[in-house]
Amino acid sequence: MAGEPQADCLFCKIAAGDVPATIVRETETTLAFRDISPQAPTHVLVIPKVHYSDAAELAAAEPVIAGDVLREAGQVAADEKVDGTGYRIVFNTGPGAGQTVFHAHAHVLGGRDLQRLV
Ligand code: 5GP
Ligand code: ZN
Repeated sequence: MAGEPQADCLFCKIAAGDVPATIVRETETTLAFRDISPQAPTHVLVIPKVHYSDAAELAAAEPVIAGDVLREAGQVAADEKVDGTGYRIVFNTGPGAGQTVFHAHAHVLGGRDLQRLV
């Protein structure tokens, strides 16, 4: 069923506590943890606890939780003290854009100069 945990999904396993992660924030609907392969001094992933394959699917099915993910991304940036200098929230969507884990997640990147992308 939509939103239900998927047995073969790494981030569902992290949300369930079955795979360890360095958790930095948790709410009823979201989890934030450090990326295993950080691309910046701050590189935190914010996921919804419910399973949707990407951000657009999450937003279509659960707009309130999609908002929770965005709010938590901002809270991570504030906790990590990168909100003053600037940070980037990235939702890679689809293999052609570099998505490798098909459970919606926001990357929060900061703590170094981030080149303008678009
Ligand atoms: P994507 O490429 O789908 O946008 O992002 C997936 C991210 O998950 C990558 O940045 C990758 O480094 C991270 N990742 C992959 N496996 C693990 C893991 O087991 N634990 C953590 N914390 N991050 C992971
Ligand atoms: Zn999942």
